[in-house]
Amino acid sequence: MNRSPQSAQISYNTAQKQLQEAAAIIKLDSAAYELLRCPLRELHVTIPVKMDNGSIKIFQGFRVQHNDARGPNKGGIRFHPDETIDTVRALASWMTWKTSVMDLPLGGGKGGVICNPKTMSTGELERLSRAYIRQLGSFLGPQKDIPAPDVYTTPQIMAWIADEYSIMQGKNLFGVITGKPLALGGSAGRGDATARGGMYCVREAAEALGLSLAGARAAIQGYGNAGSNAHKLAIELLGMKVIAVSDSSGSIYNPDGFRYEALMMHKKKSGSVSGFPGAAAISDKELLELDVSVLFPAALDSVITKTNAPDIRAKIIAELANGPITPEADAILYNKGVYIIPDLLCNAGGVTVSYFEMVQNAYGYYWEEEQVQQRLEHKMKTAFLAVQQKSQTYKVHNRLAAYIVAVERVAEAMKLRGWY
Ligand code: GLU
Repeated sequence: MNRSPQSAQISYNTAQKQLQEAAAIIKLDSAAYELLRCPLRELHVTIPVKMDNGSIKIFQGFRVQHNDARGPNKGGIRFHPDETIDTVRALASWMTWKTSVMDLPLGGGKGGVICNPKTMSTGELERLSRAYIRQLGSFLGPQKDIPAPDVYTTPQIMAWIADEYSIMQGKNLFGVITGKPLALGGSAGRGDATARGGMYCVREAAEALGLSLAGARAAIQGYGNAGSNAHKLAIELLGMKVIAVSDSSGSIYNPDGFRYEALMMHKKKSGSVSGFPGAAAISDKELLELDVSVLFPAALDSVITKTNAPDIRAKIIAELANGPITPEADAILYNKGVYIIPDLLCNAGGVTVSYFEMVQNAYGYYWEEEQVQQRLEHKMKTAFLAVQQKSQTYKVHNRLAAYIVAVERVAEAMKLRGWY
């Protein structure tokens, strides 16, 4: 799915508006509000990379540290052609709220490089990843700011970055980044953690709504790490039928549901979900508007807007992507009675297992996958409950409730540190 050119601006405005609403409800101190409106620090870098044809290409990159009152900044790195500093700022602040909702001892950061990894060779990607981290230098570190994967960045990219950083420091410091391959200090269960955390939330939401998920229909927009694992786990953990999925090549539909292994094999071979045998091609708009129990937006931000929100028929929207619903669309959906599991909570499984990875790196002792999953489930349920309780106390929808939980915790830490 392609993004509109205004999308970066939308997410930045969205992030600002969401904070403002929560701050007003909890009557947040004005100095604390001013502190939280802006990132504490940001670094802009210009990165020369030698391309395979011998030419030098100059890339622009960023790292934004929104707030580290509760602990080191944490958040992914995005490699995307439409990356902008405003998107990265919005996403960095969402990480502050996400780690706080999950009650992790971390703050929020985000990084990005304007590039199109789909048109770059492996060698070019490696040189770009290493050069980016060299430019960030001492801005990062296991106790300062710990990146991770995000849109179009992979465990292999994390491995190059861990290696480059370790060379820079003259010792192995794999804890500088998470989402690494298992052989290099990664955590068991990190691969599907974002989708898995989302499934635990969907299970709680369905229980609250008295909705049965066994055999119920789901649609997934986006088929990257979060989307494809959501396909596997919606079937495996919830017994659902996934009747539509999409990726940047288009959307496909089959009322009988798609088998995960077969579709994954097709995507690996052909590079996209389109053209899968037995599937009808539908538009992205049609996918979002299907009559399903659960819709998983699992791609980019601002895909559900005031234009398509009135036509959404899903009972639950589980936001595996960051910021897929604009504030105007939020209000429309809330009035329609759609149950939204907000991104801060729904996709927080990724950063939660990233945190487990940091703990294991520091500890030098690694957990079994089952242990990771049990701890993740416990964390997700606790956070879900905290949000549910706030939404009842303040009579607000889940997103605002999640903000209230998060902002209160960050404000308390800032107060204790004497920042206001
Ligand atoms: N990029 C993911 C997110 O948006 C994971 C961040 C992390 O693991 O630090 O939550």
